[in-house]
Amino acid sequence: MENKAILGIGLSILEQLGKEAAAPYYEKNVSLLIKQILDKHNIAYTEDTYGNIIASYQNLNKEHSIPKVAFVSHMDHPGIEILSVENSKIIGKMIGRTSDSIFTEKIPLIIHDSLGQKIIAESTGEQTDSKDEIFITTLEEKLPTLPAFAVFDLPEFLLEDQKILMRACDDLVGCAASLAVLEYLAKENKPGNIQAIFTRAEEAGLVGARLMANDQFLTQETIIISIETSKAIPGGELGKGPIIRAGDALTTFSQKAEALLNFAKANLLRQDKTINIQRQLMDGGVCEATAFILNGYEATGIAFPLAHYHNGLGEPSIQAEFIDVNDFNGGLQLLLETTSVDADQDPPFASRIKSYPVEQAEKLKHP
Ligand SMILES: [Zn+2]
Repeated sequence: MENKAILGIGLSILEQLGKEAAAPYYEKNVSLLIKQILDKHNIAYTEDTYGNIIASYQNLNKEHSIPKVAFVSHMDHPGIEILSVENSKIIGKMIGRTSDSIFTEKIPLIIHDSLGQKIIAESTGEQTDSKDEIFITTLEEKLPTLPAFAVFDLPEFLLEDQKILMRACDDLVGCAASLAVLEYLAKENKPGNIQAIFTRAEEAGLVGARLMANDQFLTQETIIISIETSKAIPGGELGKGPIIRAGDALTTFSQKAEALLNFAKANLLRQDKTINIQRQLMDGGVCEATAFILNGYEATGIAFPLAHYHNGLGEPSIQAEFIDVNDFNGGLQLLLETTSVDADQDPPFASRIKSYPVEQAEKLKHP
């Protein structure tokens, strides 16, 4: 069954991605793995000046016009840039927001350095005088060689009951969803006109996406779909399905772009009435759709409801993030369906609402 095949692909990719540590500006390991997966399935890709990856899948063998879509997800996760190492005194800077306990408690870390060393370390619970800077000590007889970064020492990937528990669901889940759809389409030789964008330094302020959107790297007719995890909120809840994201903390997204998702949702519901898909304005954070919207693109997003967002932002301790496996599956189905909807048609509800209510108009004129 199609259903299970793409979920299997998605989980396998997610497990592999989970092993690759990344922080803003330090996405090399994730990037290498993504390119390996693309190579394996003969999916073409290029990189822009900044190291954002742009993969393309084009198979236009379909009667109706299929949408030109770009999936956007980011390769980084909140983490620590090592600024200096002097006589075992290590200073790191937290990039991306997380639990404040990183500044006050001893938190287990793994440092990754330019020699490829992984060094067990911990934050000391003390801050320097500069904002977001902390002291770190190694728990091994090794010191890192710069450039280096550190990540939280948390599970890379665990599938427990319904939960997918990871150090960095955000946004490896988005990367895996995007890759799984491409891999599935390529294996099955299905129609599609898709670009999958894997960006850098999102947690440092949408840096990769802003550069790409400013440079107009994608043609303006491309419909952008940001694929993200987002802090679960009422109306965008864990275990109740992927979320069609009406907006984020800063902007509302595009109706024209969202119409594709709504169309795909209607198609899925026709096949299976039990499928759950939510729709909500997820204002727990900003996503990359905003960078594209503000640069003139039609952009929308899907979000996977996330627990322990940013490893516990606003919470007392640092923890692994998790999403629900059914939500992940639902998101994969929704994205897959989106790649083949009729781009020239409105979603079913739109034609109903747009039609002129002739009879009712008469009734209003002649009460
Ligand atoms: Zn994030």
